[in-house]
Formats: sequence, structure tokens, C-alpha cells
Amino acid sequence: MAQGFETWLRPNDRGLHCVPGDFYIDPHAPVERAIITHGHSDHARPGNARVLATAETLAIMKVRLGEGVGRSLQSLALGERLQIGEVTVWLAPAGHVLGSAQVVMEYKGQRAVVSGDYKRRADATCVGFEVVPCDLFVTEATFALPVFVHESDTHEMAKLMTSLAAFPERTHQIGAYGLGKCQRLIMMMRQAGLDGPVWLHGAMKPLCDLYERLGIGLGDLRLVSDATDKLAGQVVICPPSTIGDRWSRRFADPLPAFASGWMRIRARARQRGVELPLIISDHADWPELVQTIRDVGAGEIWITHGRDDALTLQCQAMGLKARALSLVGFGEEDGE
Ligand SMILES: [Zn+2]
Repeated sequence: MAQGFETWLRPNDRGLHCVPGDFYIDPHAPVERAIITHGHSDHARPGNARVLATAETLAIMKVRLGEGVGRSLQSLALGERLQIGEVTVWLAPAGHVLGSAQVVMEYKGQRAVVSGDYKRRADATCVGFEVVPCDLFVTEATFALPVFVHESDTHEMAKLMTSLAAFPERTHQIGAYGLGKCQRLIMMMRQAGLDGPVWLHGAMKPLCDLYERLGIGLGDLRLVSDATDKLAGQVVICPPSTIGDRWSRRFADPLPAFASGWMRIRARARQRGVELPLIISDHADWPELVQTIRDVGAGEIWITHGRDDALTLQCQAMGLKARALSLVGFGEEDGE
């Protein structure tokens, strides 16, 4: 019988350690060798000596962390195999944000996959999630409660386009996380027919520029700081924290919106003063999590972060071995 995965994959106080390769995946404290699944700050932290990731993730980390990104950087293309110690490692697309990857590890006839954050829906700004059959699947669980069934993206975009048509005198001020959501939202608006300018809070610009440099065209983007009027009838994308604060007073009767999976919870929208909640998520919802666990066919599931109780029970009901790792430090930045 195959030995337990714990003999070679061990969660500890720095994160998930692959013992025979002596590397960590998304460590939350600096380590000698790290593999980073994607650029969100709760996964890509500064200070590791050696960092392995997709070229896009390394580029994102450089924009966000500058010199702190790591001493030695190595990019690995999706699907390209690398031997690290006794472990064969490759990366498969996770469909979460540009550059996001699952980490596939093969050791002594066992295959383990660490998903990082992922989603199953189409996203024109990154490569779609790939199902990698495996023996152990280590999954996120951000939206792992049956109540989280995200609306279709088409439905949510129709809400936005209807609102834009209904309130031509107001500024639509949309809160969105700066890496991934912002660019995907712009792309979705372009596909929905909005070809005029999209106005950005300064914090959104460096990563939008990087996406453009990496070939993801986002159209006419302008800085709010360059505006000469109150931007009536225009769309502004900004950090969620600016909704309702002093910065918003420059706009024409601002209509606060927020693009996030958490907008499924009405109380959250109300609490933030959001008039137009847009349920647009870069994470799998409950049916997609369960479907993915089915698709990969693993006999054992580990849950890294998020709402692990419900998913643990669900896996057990599916006849699978399940374990909550309760790794600390995840879900702090993007969380949606
Ligand atoms: Zn993420």
C-alpha cells in the first residue's frame, strides 16, 4: 500500500513543506526555496531566497514587491517538468488571475496537486483551470458553503450595463481588488460593449500597465487624477476601501458598486454602503469546488484555507479522506 502523503508533504508553521524536494508552496514566512502559485499578497510574500513561479507571477511580484521578491528567481512555463530533489514538479493553470498556477508534484508513484486559489469560469485575462487527475488534491475553500452559488458573470454584467444606462448623470464607482479583478472587470466591460474610457484610481495603474505589457489589452484607461470634470456618466475602478470615503467626493453623485464574490451576502454590501453589488468572483463557488473535487478523482483532499468545516464534511460524504490544514495567513488580501 502507498504510504501516507504526510510522509512527504507536511504543513508546518511556515506553510506547506515538500520534504523530498525541500521547498515550500506559498510560504507565509521567508524560506530557502519557495514555489508561488500566484501574485496575491497572501500567497506571494517577500523575502524568500529562491522563488519558482510562472513568468507572469514573477513579473507581478516584481511590480508589487520590488527588490523584496527574492534573491534568485526561476520561471517555469505551464506544463514544463522540473526535477527538484526527488520530486518532479510542474505547473498547471488555475484560472484565478494572470499567471496563476496549480503546483503538481510527483513522488514515488504518488501525485499531489496544490490548487492555490482557483476558479472554473472563463476569464479572458488568464489561462483557464486545468483538471489534473491526482491522488491528493490540496484545495482552497474561500467560498465553501452551500450558500455560495455565484450568479453568472453575464447576469452581473447586464446589471452593470443597465445601471450605466439608467443613471447617465452619476459616476459609477466600482471597488475591485487591484490584481486580477480590476483587469478582468475591464475586460468584461469591453466585451459588453463599453469602449469609452475607464478611469482608474492611481493604485490600479501599475498592474494594469503590466497586464498591457504582457499582451492583455484593456483599451482606453485614464487616471482619475487627470480628470478635468466630475466624471458624470463615467466608470471609475478603485480600491474597495475608497468607497464612500473623502476621495469619492470628487465624483458626480457617485454610485458605489463592488465586484466581489462576497457581494452574494447582502449584509456585506449594505455594510459597505454598496448600491450596486456585483457578484463577480475569482474563486470557485460551492458547486464548482465540489465538482472540481469530483473531477480530479483524488482519494484524499486537504483544505488549505477558507471555510474548511463544510467542505471536510462534504468530502467525507463523498467517501473521501479529508483533512483541514488550517494554514495561517491566507485570505488576507484578495479573499474573494
Ligand atoms: Zn488569490
